[in-house]
Amino acid sequence: MTDCLFCGIVEGSVPSQTVASDERTVAFMDINPATPGHALVVPRAHSADLLDIDAGDLAATSVASQRLARRMKEELGADGVNLINACGEVAFQTVFHFHIHVVPRYRGDPLKLPWVPTEGDPDEIAATAAKLRDAGGGDDG
Ligand code: AMP
Ligand code: ZN
Repeated sequence: MTDCLFCGIVEGSVPSQTVASDERTVAFMDINPATPGHALVVPRAHSADLLDIDAGDLAATSVASQRLARRMKEELGADGVNLINACGEVAFQTVFHFHIHVVPRYRGDPLKLPWVPTEGDPDEIAATAAKLRDAGGGDDG
């Protein structure tokens, strides 16, 4: 049992649309997508933020974000990607388990940063997750 939301997602006790995973990282869809396909990459091991994370986990989450960005281009037709990390409350961090936002960008999309989180449609998020999910993507509970 954990009281960290993203540890719960890593363990599977909190439902998520997981799209990729490896030995050190898990990637899943953000429930308040800034654009269609917005996902988060987290280390399996808990760390609070950028100042706290182990260097190996930081490298692994960065490489996993690059892999996901490539899939967003290939599978979702993204024209670009923003990688965003919020470190500390003053920088808009709201979940204190390190995560990299991988936000696909589409030419002409209306997103202005920082965005105001708005709940996404679960069916649309699930359909986009199915396109992004790779063979090692894990379950979709
Ligand atoms: P941050 O403000 O950088 O800490 O971002 C936290 C992100 O986690 C926000 O974009 C939220 O929409 C997202 N989020 C919160 N709860 C969940 C959840 N249960 N599953 C997926 N994403 C979540
Ligand atoms: Zn955690």
